[in-house]
Amino acid sequence: MSSLLRAAVVGDPVAHSLSPRLFGLWAKARGRELAYEPLKVTAAAFSETLSYARADGPWLGWNVTAPHKERAAQLADECDPSVDQPGAANVLLFVDGRVLAHNTDVQGFLDSLAAAGAPSFGIRAAVLGAGGAAAAAVAALRRAGAAEVAVYNRGAERAQALSRRFGVSAGTLSDAAAELSAFDLIVNATSAGFAETSPLRAGTAFRPDSWAVDLGYRPKETPFLAQARAGGARTLGGLGMLVRQAALTWRLFFGETLPEDAVAAALADLEAVP
Ligand code: NDP
Repeated sequence: MSSLLRAAVVGDPVAHSLSPRLFGLWAKARGRELAYEPLKVTAAAFSETLSYARADGPWLGWNVTAPHKERAAQLADECDPSVDQPGAANVLLFVDGRVLAHNTDVQGFLDSLAAAGAPSFGIRAAVLGAGGAAAAAVAALRRAGAAEVAVYNRGAERAQALSRRFGVSAGTLSDAAAELSAFDLIVNATSAGFAETSPLRAGTAFRPDSWAVDLGYRPKETPFLAQARAGGARTLGGLGMLVRQAALTWRLFFGETLPEDAVAAALADLEAVP
């Protein structure tokens, strides 16, 4: 039996996080002694908390969530190349008093598309939103060889900033509604995934053969996905990305690639959570 290792998901808020459940499931199934806890840390306290963790341990690693992903990349002693394009880290590893930053969101997003049979190479893709999740989706689609990526956001300034950073086109959410039929894949990376409304106005037409992906996952069918399904588009929720970025985190923590049935079992478990 291995000795007890400590890990956490660090964010604010963090009580809603499904990561402790996910890592608990895998630890039990794979016979690992892992204490994985939600750790609420405000933006103001993040730097100091990380300094304590670096010095005192005994941490295996952290999953980092909003609002700390960019700061995590800046404060780490070393960044893996996976951090470069999104400019954000969602995993910190503690190794011999040093903090190593990684990003598994980008690959987790691509893995979830591939597992669902959704396309990414050679396609025209629209990303709704301009925050950290949108940056990860844009980086992923560029990495996968999308022919075109366009960013649409409620606030024009943030859309422009993301557009300049990645060299993609930008517009408002009203532009997106009017131009939607041009896209093969539409990703909702706004926080409206968890709200009661879609970021697109009622009556927005989806192309029947297109894919609509929501990074949000509560409720399981978000208003955006319901709207897309009603328009005949194929739909994919955000739980797949959540589970697949966590599976990649598990590999960083333990050097072990989880078998596909362990990933599928975790996804089924989370899908059953009300
Ligand atoms: P940020 O706070 O960085 O960005 C939020 C974005 O949502 C901004 O573009 C903001 O627009 C937009 N927005 C917020 N409310 C609305 C609204 N009512 N209508 C339209 N646009 C809105 O958040 P993140 O990028 O970190 O996260 C975005 C979403 O992605 C969250 O729901 C998060 O949980 C999810 N996510 C899921 C993951 C997964 O594994 N499935 C991984 C990471 C994130 P504006 O700039 O105008 O304010």
